[in-house]
Amino acid sequence: MNYQEQLKDVRWQKLRLKIMARDKWKCRVCKRGDKTLAVHHLFYNPSGMAWDIDKKWLVTVCEGCHKFLEDTKYGKPVFTDKDYRRMYNRIKRKNEPGQRGEGR
Ligand SMILES: [Zn+2]
Repeated sequence: MNYQEQLKDVRWQKLRLKIMARDKWKCRVCKRGDKTLAVHHLFYNPSGMAWDIDKKWLVTVCEGCHKFLEDTKYGKPVFTDKDYRRMYNRIKRKNEPGQRGEGR
């Protein structure tokens, strides 16, 4: 079973709903609940299926934050509230205008 097939499996579908419920249907990074949500793996069990992993390695994130995590490989296996805050600040900075030398 390849990864794409695993993500369609009922076992993963059930687990991701549990994770989203645990996280109160909100992005754990930006805390928004009005965006399309995804469940991100902070860590993959190399020999297991997508659902064959401790729940602590799974976090609910919105599409935007998910992309950020994937792009930056920020999804490291030690995730504290401080890490979330740091990520949030990085995302905020990234989205703020004028951070790339605008107007010069
Ligand atoms: Zn988010």
